Parts: sequence; structure tokens; C-alpha cells
Amino acid sequence: STPPPMGSDAGNVKVVVRCRAFVPREREAGRACIIRMDPATQKTLLLAPIDLNPSTTRRAYDDKEFTFDKSFWSHDESDPHYVHQEDVYRSFGEEFLDHNFEGYNTCIFAYGQTGSGKSYTMMGNQDQPGLIPRTCEELFERIERDPTPNTNYHVHVSYFEVYNEHVRDLLVPRTNPPAYLKIRESLKDGVYVQGLTEAEVRNYGDVKRLMECGDLSRTTAATKMNDTSSRSHAVFTIQLKQIQHSLLSDATIERCARMRLVDLAGSERANKTEAVGARLKEGGNINKSLTTLGRVIAALAKKGRTREIVPFRDSVLTYLLKDSLVGNSKTAMVACISPTDYDETLSTLRYADQAK
Ligand code: ADP
Repeated sequence: STPPPMGSDAGNVKVVVRCRAFVPREREAGRACIIRMDPATQKTLLLAPIDLNPSTTRRAYDDKEFTFDKSFWSHDESDPHYVHQEDVYRSFGEEFLDHNFEGYNTCIFAYGQTGSGKSYTMMGNQDQPGLIPRTCEELFERIERDPTPNTNYHVHVSYFEVYNEHVRDLLVPRTNPPAYLKIRESLKDGVYVQGLTEAEVRNYGDVKRLMECGDLSRTTAATKMNDTSSRSHAVFTIQLKQIQHSLLSDATIERCARMRLVDLAGSERANKTEAVGARLKEGGNINKSLTTLGRVIAALAKKGRTREIVPFRDSVLTYLLKDSLVGNSKTAMVACISPTDYDETLSTLRYADQAK
């Protein structure tokens, strides 16, 4: 089959927002939900906090309204519009997998402050698997279902984190000091991480073991805001290679696609977590990757309309993901929001808004 024509990137970036349920801490404190979503229009409304000081006549805050490709209401399970893990997967995970089987790259990011539901969305848990396990499971289901005897499939998985603008392999045991990998670029392979483990996987069970091993290895450091706060960007990559043998001759057609599933570091501002010293510098680097990513996605979303230069090289994360974002790639950003935090939610919604 002939691939669709190259060139037009327009419409290949999707931005969605997802509001999580209260966590026990919020429920116990009797917090109010400050998010409203309208399933008919996909609008998201952020309600301003009520100013309890009677002497102020002017409200310090306003309600803010945003419109994204989708607004996922995962706040209240008794609501008929509640969006389950399965629904999130169906809304674009499936379409992205189709795209991969056609030989194109895809990239899904989860953005948001620590505790907003990024890893729940990407990885999920045993009972409620997220986008990564669902994608892997369906990938192998499709391979096993393939009725044609003349296609061979090869699937490789890698898992690395970008921490403080350094790359670390999550599929090898941790060392002290940590072993950082070098980034290289070649004509043949594009941008790649030198020495990164690319494990061949034959079924979903293989992937599951690697995911668990990688998650254990992820860098976490205590901050005043949340002691499991993750300060690194975790990039899970599935590489799909299809080798199709012609039934009439020795000819083969090879198709390669890469899916990137990225759990970004918490977007909360450094000052809020009272970070100091090394932690503050780290915050700066995290923001550098996040700011650059925002600019890259915004530039990609605008492409076709303007001839803007996409600043891939300005951060390690965007430089590494370049090949997964250009050409016929499809990109989705899930902006995860808490139902109780006006400032952080506003900053997340603004970030997502500029990426549209
Ligand atoms: P992050 O990765 O952004 O730091 P987590 O994914 O760890 O945040 O989510 C924080 C907490 O909220 C976890 O206990 C998680 O299980 C819960 N949570 C997140 N999203 C949802 C959701 N959509 N429904 C129910 N619980 C959620």
C-alpha cells in the first residue's frame, strides 16, 4: 500500500484536558470542585475562588473558560458523563495505533502539576490500566489477529527518563552515581540515545515486566509539596517494525513506526514547592524542557499557516522527540488538572491553550 502524501501537518496535534477525582486528602478537607466541563461543547470552566474579605470590592480572580479538542470529566464516577480509562484510550489511543500500523510515528504527552493524574492517565494501576498498557495490549492483539501469513512483526521497547537535561536508561539497574547516556545524531538513525536498552518483546507479558522494572527505577525526590513528586520526564517508547514478504517475489516491504508515551515532570513552579539550591536548578531545567515543549507543539500546531522555526534543539526532551513529532506524526497532549487548585490549574490550562 502507498503511504498518504507527506507534508501537511495541520490537524495532527490534539490537545485534551482531564479533570481527576478528589484524592482522599481533598475529600477529607471538604474541598469544593472548581472545574466544570460541558460535554456538548467540550468547554472547560475554571471557577474563581470566592474572596472572603468583605472590604474588597473588586474580585482578584475571574472565572476562565477554555475550549480543547476534548474535555475529559473523570471527577465524579456517578456522573453519566464520567470518562473512564477505557474512554480516554478509545478517544485517540486506537486511532494512533492505526497510524503506527501504517508506518507513522505518534507521541502522547501527559502534562500537569504533580498529583494531577499524569501517571494515572499514562500508566494507571492494576485495576485501571492507563494508555501505555492498553496500547501495548492492543498492539499484540492486533499482531496476533493478523490473518496474513506473510508479515513478520518485531516489537522493541525502551524506557528512559530525562532528568535535569540528562538521559538515564530505566531498563538497567540504578547505579550511584547515575549513568547518563549520550545523545547522538546520524543521517541513518536521526537523533538517538547511545547505548539505550531496546528490549525485544514478544507479548504483552514481556512489556509488563519491563514497565514494572522501569517504574521502580524512576527518579523521585522528596519536595515539600509531595514526597513522591516526580522531577523527571519518563519516555516510554514502542518500536514497531513490520516486514511484509511479497507472495510473488523475493521483495519485502519494511515499515517502521515509533510510539512515544511521555509522562512529563510536574509543571508546578519552583517557588511554590519552596525549592532551594540544587532542587531549584533542577526546577529550572524541568521548566526549560516544558517551556520548549510548549513552544514546539504550538509551532507544530500552527505549521502550514506559518513558516515558524520549530525550536527542537532548545531542550534535550524535544531534541530526542523530534522524529516523533515531525512529518506525518500525530501528537496528543493530555493536560491533567486537579479539581481544587486554581493557580496551578490555570497555568496548566494556559499552557495547553497555547499548544492548540
Ligand atoms: P501525577 O502523576 O500527575 O503526579 P497521579 O497520577 O499519581 O498524579 O495522581 C495522583 C492521585 O490521584 C493518585 O492517587 C491517583 O490514583 C489519583 N487519580 C489521578 N487521576 C485519577 C482519575 N482520573 N480518577 C481517579 N483517581 C485519579
